[in-house]
Amino acid sequence: MADGTDKEKSCIFCQIVKGNAPCYRIYEDDLSLAILDVNPFSRGHCLVIPKRHVPWWHELTDDENASLFKAAKVVAEKMMTVLAPDFVCMYARGRRIPHTHIFLVPTYKGDILDRFFNALELFQESPPQLAALREGSCMEDVAERLREANLAKKPKEQE
Ligand SMILES: [Zn+2]
Repeated sequence: MADGTDKEKSCIFCQIVKGNAPCYRIYEDDLSLAILDVNPFSRGHCLVIPKRHVPWWHELTDDENASLFKAAKVVAEKMMTVLAPDFVCMYARGRRIPHTHIFLVPTYKGDILDRFFNALELFQESPPQLAALREGSCMEDVAERLREANLAKKPKEQE
């Protein structure tokens, strides 16, 4: 990895990877690092990040993608062993910090994140503006377009 671009210098996750910012390291391999989230939704909530600054998870190379999800599974198994949650919730969004990070949250029935996702699932089925998306013609159209999409643009290779 080079000394770093301005984006990397201002990115907290890049600084953690380089050892310039503190973190609770849980697991790592050559391409990925798992750390505790400093604002946990539950005890043991972790983030898994690629060591390279990649804003969106779908821009990872195939090797980075494989490493990230393998690391996520290892950490989830550790959580299940040590913390015994009902399951480990995984999600990735990335609006707030533009460096890919997967949330791994030990989840217990009725905890804060469990209630949030239950509410989101109810919301998903209710707004009228989403009803049109469920209609057959709309579903057929988008399914066709996704199936036929030509992936000419491959993910960027690692620098
Ligand atoms: Zn970064």
